[in-house]
Amino acid sequence: MYYDYYYDYGYDCGYDYDCDYDDNNNYDDDDDDCQNYDNNCDNSYYCCGFYLYSSQRDGDCDCDCDSDCDCYCTATDDGDDDCAIVAFFAATQPSEKERLGWSFSEELDSFTRILPYVICAFNAIDRDCDTLVSDEEVTSWLQNPQLEQRVEETKWSFTELKSVEASLPGLCVSGLSGPQGLAFIMGHIKNFHFEDGVPSMSLRDCVLASMKVFTELHVRVGARRLSRRAEEDPNLRSKSYQSLLAMADSKAKVPILEKLCSQLASLELEHSLKGAEGTEPRPRVVAAPRSVTDVAFCVQAAQSLSCSVSVVGGNHSGYGGLGDLVLEMEHHFTAIAADVTSNLVRVEAGVKLKSLAAKAAESELVVPLGTAPTVGVGLILQGGVGHSTRRLGLALDAIHSVQLVTASGEVLTLSSDSCDEHKDLFWAVCGCGPNFGVVTSLELKASKLKSCRATRRVFHVPSESPSEAASVVQRYMLRSKSLPRDCCADCCVYLADGSIQVGIYDFNLGCEVPPVDAGSAESVLELVDEGLNPVQLMDIEPYLCEQPPGVAHRGFLSSRSFFTRALFFGRDADISEVLVERLLKAPSRHCYFHFQHMGGAVADGSSLSSAFLARDAEWSLVITAAWTEDEEDCSFWVREVVKVLLPLALGCYATDLGPDPEDVELAQRTFGGHAERLLLLKQKWDPNNMFRHGFPLCQLGQAT
Ligand SMILES: Cc1cc2nc3c(=O)[nH]c(=O)nc-3n(C[C@H](O)[C@H](O)[C@H](O)COP(=O)(O)OP(=O)(O)OC[C@H]3O[C@@H](n4cnc5c(N)ncnc54)[C@H](O)[C@@H]3O)c2cc1C
Repeated sequence: MYYDYYYDYGYDCGYDYDCDYDDNNNYDDDDDDCQNYDNNCDNSYYCCGFYLYSSQRDGDCDCDCDSDCDCYCTATDDGDDDCAIVAFFAATQPSEKERLGWSFSEELDSFTRILPYVICAFNAIDRDCDTLVSDEEVTSWLQNPQLEQRVEETKWSFTELKSVEASLPGLCVSGLSGPQGLAFIMGHIKNFHFEDGVPSMSLRDCVLASMKVFTELHVRVGARRLSRRAEEDPNLRSKSYQSLLAMADSKAKVPILEKLCSQLASLELEHSLKGAEGTEPRPRVVAAPRSVTDVAFCVQAAQSLSCSVSVVGGNHSGYGGLGDLVLEMEHHFTAIAADVTSNLVRVEAGVKLKSLAAKAAESELVVPLGTAPTVGVGLILQGGVGHSTRRLGLALDAIHSVQLVTASGEVLTLSSDSCDEHKDLFWAVCGCGPNFGVVTSLELKASKLKSCRATRRVFHVPSESPSEAASVVQRYMLRSKSLPRDCCADCCVYLADGSIQVGIYDFNLGCEVPPVDAGSAESVLELVDEGLNPVQLMDIEPYLCEQPPGVAHRGFLSSRSFFTRALFFGRDADISEVLVERLLKAPSRHCYFHFQHMGGAVADGSSLSSAFLARDAEWSLVITAAWTEDEEDCSFWVREVVKVLLPLALGCYATDLGPDPEDVELAQRTFGGHAERLLLLKQKWDPNNMFRHGFPLCQLGQAT
């Protein structure tokens, strides 16, 4: 057996220049292209290829892998005898501008140095020359590590690592027989490859596993270094070792993921996330898939590298952009079709609520949705409270079927008529959808359209009379819970002009609404609008509280300068005094409570049809703080209010919860008795927790 190898650096800087080493392996300084690179491409990503040729002793390379993988074998031009093993590492060029400033060239160097010995070790283990080794054979090699060596043209022998190391020139390799040497690496390769119980390992498997082991080991070293730097750098100091490890981990994997995804010609890469982005300075691949096949391909690529995936629908949660792979659906998944025969509206995953409502209205149909026009499919998958909820139920109650790409890349169409296994998954997707895959389209049940009358009356109560303000809120609650299903009453409680304001919206779909009896509180009737369809209803601003500049609730979220959590309350909730008391302590005038009226048809849905739990809720209370400067005070205020109200609530709304550890307690109050079933399904359909950036389902398993 013999081997040979060389590096090939190609700098991918968008200028299409190549910097090559010359025939003597010296860097070619005079190369014009290289100078262009030096001048232009300081921060570019680059990829290093590594080629190793080894002739197999049976003279034949029979592996069937293809160029989709990051390591593959193929016959070379030299003839059938040779097998080229090609590995790619991607790395980032360290620079002043780059925040974390470290590259993976070190990783490539270590890998290059050790790989020939890994192959010699493999051949030493493979005594029967069938190019396959078993777990037991590797274990027995680990007890007495040896390398296969050619001693004469046709003769081979086995030599101990120490002797091999002693025979090498000093610069060549060091530590081969040491504690972090070849046996250590082979031990990791063995554990990595055989952990799933596969019976054997080929040479190709062995090389692939060694690449993964190197990535892992260097990622850990990188994280430790980051950890040390974190002690000095205030921006990194607050991060846990786990989050540093995650940052280092994605730093290593994301460029490889990008390379894999770029093999798909139809996929649009390099989209930048608009609006609410994740706060971690992590690399990620942002892609705009054009088809379900694109989505499945990307998910499989991410799965093969243990990368996480998140989806951006309407981008109102801020969590869609946190994955190593971010799939933006709004670019190409925008089709909507209403069918008046079946009363079904089919929507793709990038559609926003207002377009959906408009398309349905063209066919005289209405689907229960939320109140804000730019919110996306994330709302439908987790609940969906709006003006027609009391009459038609939650948005998720309207789901007839979903098309889902699972963590394994399988494309499934799920409905309540599916086989038992898929019916179970459908149940989970209706309520906890973002945890189970990428929904590419949905069919929604629609009803006949009715026009609506909207009125808004705002009560002004001086701040010095908190009990009077609480009494107005109390009367609103008393009246709204007695309304028929065709009426819905929302309420905003906020501060303005030195007084407490209670703004009450009535939405009337056919029957008269009695006026609110608010005692002596002074009120102004601000809006009366007849004959509104659901699209026009979405144009009514539901948030009466003044919004700071930069928070564009009704348009695209231009910055993440608000914090919100929502709790569900039953008909007997007695919370008006707490709300007023807390509002008066709010750190900014942009803090408010928003009652969204539920009840009515929400209770018709059953625990059997979806994972949504709070069927007895009469209101969803949205607690929001927006800010111009002091973020911590504002989110702290919301968290404190939630702490006080949680014992009085029926549960917590899933939509706003994310990876923040403080959300785990709230998450426990979201699915209650359904959590166990959801966790079992998660284990089955997404065992590596690939979809982990929204509702923290797996943390529930750790907490119990
Ligand atoms: C201004 C504003 C108004 C709101 N109004 C209402 C309201 O009236 N009623 C109500 O019930 N809620 C309301 N919400 C809450 C809203 O429902 C949630 O924020 C919801 O998560 C937003 O969904 P999105 O698609 O817009 O956001 P995104 O951030 O894009 O998505 C939210 C979550 O769903 C996941 N997701 C999105 N699309 C898919 C997909 N195709 N497949 C799998 N996972 C996906 C994302 O990864 C993310 O975890 C409002 C929120 C805001 C900020």
